[in-house]
Amino acid sequence: NPVVLLADVDVTYGTGSAAVVALRKVNISFTAAEFTAVMGPSGSGKSTLLKCAAGLMSPTSGSVRLGDLELTAMPEAELAVVRRRKIGFVFQAFNLLPALTAEENITLPSLLDKREIDREWLAELIRKFGLEERTGHRPHELSGGQQQRVAVCRALLGRPDVIFADEPTGALDSHAGQQVLDGLRTAVDTMGQSVVMVTHNPVAAAHADRVVFLADGTVVDKLEKPTSDAVA
Ligand code: ADP
Ligand code: ADP
Repeated sequence: NPVVLLADVDVTYGTGSAAVVALRKVNISFTAAEFTAVMGPSGSGKSTLLKCAAGLMSPTSGSVRLGDLELTAMPEAELAVVRRRKIGFVFQAFNLLPALTAEENITLPSLLDKREIDREWLAELIRKFGLEERTGHRPHELSGGQQQRVAVCRALLGRPDVIFADEPTGALDSHAGQQVLDGLRTAVDTMGQSVVMVTHNPVAAAHADRVVFLADGTVVDKLEKPTSDAVA
């Protein structure tokens, strides 16, 4: 069963002569324990696809399902709850709060949501991501790679069904990027999560189980078991 299913999704921004079609009749699904990379030229609709799949925007027409839930029919307040409970987000710019320590950044969403924190799971994540010596540091005291690993831990703490990552390695050197990709791989292989990652980087995409290529708002190709040469 797919974790996320987009059916006949169309997105048009603006109206009349200013209308821009960002997605046309997109049909795609993301399943558990699967790492998908989404690639395509600038303006091909990658961000729009991610926003629709994550319930951050409603398509102009079509259906977006997360498990049993139809997101397009859901009021915003309910959607916000679904996003917090079921979806993890990782962004290119880390989006950590500068005044909080690494550990506080990781636990903040759970605290805001009044969810009990699984301390054992938190400790395991911190260890898995090599942040044991950094839990009390603030973001400015961490390298880019460490900051992004904090962001991935934050996304994983609530055990979401799916993680959406928008250029998670875009601001990192190759070593730090590798560690973040290994972390996402672990989420897929040992925790059974579905990870959907937008990337321009063929080396990053080669960590995925499949690559979905967009061009001009349409899925033009799907590649299983990619290699970095094949996606370059
Ligand atoms: P990508 O992430 O692949 O660069 P986007 O999904 O950001 O592509 O954009 C797809 C198309 O939609 C582009 O032509 C872009 O200019 C347009 N677009 C994106 N967001 C908006 C918006 N808020 N208003 C108008 N046009 C937009
Ligand atoms: P990582 O293994 O996360 O990629 P790096 O090799 O980039 O880490 O950095 C090694 C150490 O240098 C880090 O532990 C960090 O303390 C420090 N460091 C690196 N970049 C920065 C930065 N931009 N600001 C503060 N400290 C940094």
